[in-house]
Amino acid sequence: MSANDTPMMAQYKNIKSQHQDEILFFRLGDFYEMFFTDAEIASRELEITLTSREGGQNMRIPMCGVPYHAAENYIARLINKGFKVAICEQVEDPKQTKGIVRREVIKVITPGTVLSETLLPDQSNNYLTVIAERGTTLCLAAADISTGECLWVGYEGINRLPALCDQLYRLMPAELVIAGEIANDGELKAFINSRLANCAVSNFKEFDAEAITGLPGRHFAAEELPDCQCAQLSLGILLFYLHQTLKNDLSHLNRLTHLNFADSLVLDTSTLRNLEVTRNMRDGGKKETLLGVLDYTSTAMGGRLLKNWLEYPLMHAGRIMERQDAIAELLDQPAERQLVKTALSAVYDFERILTRVEVGTANARDLIALKDSLAVIPALQNSLANFRTALLTQLGTALTDHSSIVRLIDAAITETPPISLRDGGLIKENYHAELDELRSIARDSREWIQSLEARERERTGIKSLKIGYNKVFGYYLEVTHSNSSAVPVNYVRKQTLANAERYITPELKDFETKVLGAQEKIVSLEYVLFSEIRDSIKSDIRQIQQTARQIALLDTLVSLSEAAERYNYARPQIRTNGAILIKDGRHPVVERLLQRELFVPNDTLLDHHENEVMVITGPNMAGKSTYMRQVALLVLMAQTGSFIPAREAVISPVDRIFTRVGASDDLSTGQSTFMVEMNEVAQILKYATAKSLIVLDEIGRGTSTFDGMSIARAVIEYINERIKAKTLFATHYHELTELADYGRNIKNYSVAVKERGRDVVFLRRIVPGGADKSYGIHVAQLAGLPKKLIDRASRILAELEQNHPPAVRQPQVEQTAATLSSSLFESALAADLLAIDVLSITPLEALNILYRLQTEA
Ligand code: ADP
Repeated sequence: MSANDTPMMAQYKNIKSQHQDEILFFRLGDFYEMFFTDAEIASRELEITLTSREGGQNMRIPMCGVPYHAAENYIARLINKGFKVAICEQVEDPKQTKGIVRREVIKVITPGTVLSETLLPDQSNNYLTVIAERGTTLCLAAADISTGECLWVGYEGINRLPALCDQLYRLMPAELVIAGEIANDGELKAFINSRLANCAVSNFKEFDAEAITGLPGRHFAAEELPDCQCAQLSLGILLFYLHQTLKNDLSHLNRLTHLNFADSLVLDTSTLRNLEVTRNMRDGGKKETLLGVLDYTSTAMGGRLLKNWLEYPLMHAGRIMERQDAIAELLDQPAERQLVKTALSAVYDFERILTRVEVGTANARDLIALKDSLAVIPALQNSLANFRTALLTQLGTALTDHSSIVRLIDAAITETPPISLRDGGLIKENYHAELDELRSIARDSREWIQSLEARERERTGIKSLKIGYNKVFGYYLEVTHSNSSAVPVNYVRKQTLANAERYITPELKDFETKVLGAQEKIVSLEYVLFSEIRDSIKSDIRQIQQTARQIALLDTLVSLSEAAERYNYARPQIRTNGAILIKDGRHPVVERLLQRELFVPNDTLLDHHENEVMVITGPNMAGKSTYMRQVALLVLMAQTGSFIPAREAVISPVDRIFTRVGASDDLSTGQSTFMVEMNEVAQILKYATAKSLIVLDEIGRGTSTFDGMSIARAVIEYINERIKAKTLFATHYHELTELADYGRNIKNYSVAVKERGRDVVFLRRIVPGGADKSYGIHVAQLAGLPKKLIDRASRILAELEQNHPPAVRQPQVEQTAATLSSSLFESALAADLLAIDVLSITPLEALNILYRLQTEA
């Protein structure tokens, strides 16, 4: 600060010194002004003109400004670009202050703490996330203040950082605050750079850990509090940061959840990405993802819950079946379901409206939306009374209709109120006597004006005389120049226009004072009444939040039943014997994308006996990855309670799904593709259990053929021997079909291919038995490589094959194609039969085999 600063500039600098990290919106009359560097940044980012003002000593201070009524849009653009904005308001009435008006920062807006509708993503949560470390524990706390959710999770052990990163990926926070040394961790930084590119990250330094650790105890109920210092620290930082930015009561942030993974199917970052569960790889959007296919939710709250279900599928068979029962019942009662759906379509995102009620930013339209949403509840209750399954009946009982709130809003707030709360038009007639009286004064005034106008026309004989109003002069009498001579003496001239003069009279001014007084009073009384109504809802927020959750649950179940009906999904039987049997399974997303072709369904058989590992050989582009992803997705879907694209299926819940799929784009982390692949394989081998499902696509591709094949083979052997997880392994190295000789629970499959002369047709059928060729040259031909080159490659291949004949000759694809149409439930038997070398076994052995098949069947 310098001695030459004007008082206003001194005030500005003082406030700015406490808000170095934010762009300060400094209220001056009808504008928010920005100065110095803030002005330079804002003018560049918002494309507004940079001006300057006198700063003493021949200095000019850079400045730019935006009108206060249009500020929301500008703030949104800055937040979207990752900036934080501090809003500094005049906190005294300038008319009533001498000297400089007092100003204060009333809130700070950051990506993780926004509440404005324009900034919030509809279908996903907007999380502010905190990471803290204490001793050997790493904790994550997150809040979505727009919905009132708050959660925490702690990690121990050597795997704590990757596990925390997986959770960050699921949350996809808008903002991340990192406390302490962990901020400098290379692995965490690399993860943030490559996977959380749009997240605003900051470090939380220099804090009083003791004071902060005490905050959660004052905010949350004692029984919800974590018994862990590190968790308390991370929650404390979260609350502290929210207090600092929102400067508001946080009482709607009342639901603290401890994420407990023992109950859910764990999906790590690469699996969620590879399977494109909720975000596609192309642009991170919902299009062409599992969520995109299943999402028929009608409300934003249901949309968020469905996403959550897909990211945290269940493990517990009973809970899965509970959801299945509800979906089945909704499918059985299409008329009732349609009624529910119609009711739901009138429901707004009132979970977020409640937050705006809590912090006092809800406007009259929000309350109307809240009323319209709650008004559908009786209809929902009626419909739900017709259902019998546990989840739906519980839901029906848990729904509260909040009829007193609906009645209050209905009686008080006009049906189509303006956005602004400061211009009147909010409150209905007959709600408040004083308001009605003021309104009648204002209304009568219109008649009074009309009669005055008529009287003055009569008195002066000027037919065109009229009474008008503008903001600067108030009420006036307007007379055209041609009639000036007829103007009476008591008219006082106020303004001259091109073709008319405007006058006032004492009578008109008296009237003006009375009317404008009434008008002003109406506006401020309406505001007071509105605020009272809004505040009166606050005491019910907790219960209405519960209702919001029930509605989200209902919407999600309806959405899953609608998808099941549209796409002809079947209810999988849930078992716990480890078996996965799928008959005519389809890939839920690919089958929707195919335009001209039909999706070819395929069977799957995995168990802990003969069928633990499926080795799938076949040329590139044959459909191996699609098939393996399909199996993983169907298991995941089944564990969310959803029906699945298959004719019939038996699914035993798995504890984790691991995927190692295709070439990775992880070059951003500076590792070679091969290194990334080996890292992922190492993680899988470390954490997979006998209850896991592993999908491995072409491992060992990033190195030489023999290296690659050896590693791939050793990995499968290791899984087979030590982990015993159900595994799908695809390779275009047909040499790896030898693996089936290694373990009797390893089975070869291949993608059926038909050769027509030199052409190859992919049949997209997974059939028992290994492929005997790679068909790489055919694929190269399909891709359009020059004919000469293809001929030369074919000759080289022929020479190579002569020198190294393939070790095993599996049955020709054309022969196995005979089994294509047979069902896998039966063809497990068929596979056993095909595996018998009839020419080399004795009659007694043949009898034994028959006996075994009969006893096992
Ligand atoms: P691979 O992993 O063997 O190289 P992909 O699984 O990537 O082959 O499949 C290649 C293409 O074949 C996919 O993009 C998909 O459009 C199509 N495809 C795969 N499986 C099927 C199927 N079962 N039915 C129809 N089309 C399929």
